[in-house]
Amino acid sequence: MSAITDLNRLRDRLTPSARMPVVFLGHGSPMNALEDTAYSRAWTALGQSLPQPAAILVVSAHWMTRGTTLVDVSALPKTIHDFYGFPDALYAMDYPAPGAPDLAREVSTLLASHHSDTDDTWGLDHGAWTVLRFLYPQANVPVFQVSIDMGRGLEHQLEVGRTLSQLRDRGVLILGSGNVVHNLRAMRFGGQPQDFAVEFDQFFASRLQDRDLAALADSKTLGSLLRMAHPTVDHYMPALTIAGTSDDRDQLTFMTDAIDLGSVSMRSFVFHA
Ligand code: ZN
Repeated sequence: MSAITDLNRLRDRLTPSARMPVVFLGHGSPMNALEDTAYSRAWTALGQSLPQPAAILVVSAHWMTRGTTLVDVSALPKTIHDFYGFPDALYAMDYPAPGAPDLAREVSTLLASHHSDTDDTWGLDHGAWTVLRFLYPQANVPVFQVSIDMGRGLEHQLEVGRTLSQLRDRGVLILGSGNVVHNLRAMRFGGQPQDFAVEFDQFFASRLQDRDLAALADSKTLGSLLRMAHPTVDHYMPALTIAGTSDDRDQLTFMTDAIDLGSVSMRSFVFHA
């Protein structure tokens, strides 16, 4: 299925409803923020299809904490250029959306059982702003990030998602940004997808479709396949958070399911009423 076909189908299905869709985007290289790619075009089309959110809560692979889940309560989150060796034009980019301090404080309270706390030092890392600039180019929707607790297991991220899911009924768009497969040591420039990348990507898609979320978070059974797909699980965590925000009332639509550079899955998905 091509991304464009999926997006056209998605647009037809996204009728206005009280319950917001949830979105996971494979963000890949920061260069996607600069270049006109199949991904940036899909993100633009998705932004035009989604209902206008009251606020956006972003769970990005690039805000990692340990032993706590932080919620950014900044009034004006700063744009973080957390990458090295890229063109000056990328460092000059800014995403000046306002924060949502009141809602963010409420979310920190909501996540109290997940050892949450508020923070006003983070802002928007590139996992957030490189995709948001296409989804909402006017930067006029309040946005704030929630960190991933790398000190807890995969199941914990499903739980965080389950807790956050009630925000969907209040017009909040929950956006996860990472990659379903992310092994930078196994990249092949211009090469074919690695076997393990295809295997994990397909496994993820089929279990998600079957709503077997426990299988996605069972690191013991996933074993070496998980370690190949994710030498560190930071880019996987946001996909689990978003899976956790879904329930069996949702329909699932995949988009941009290519594997880049041999070992980075750009698979993205939307759960919607
Ligand atoms: Zn990344």
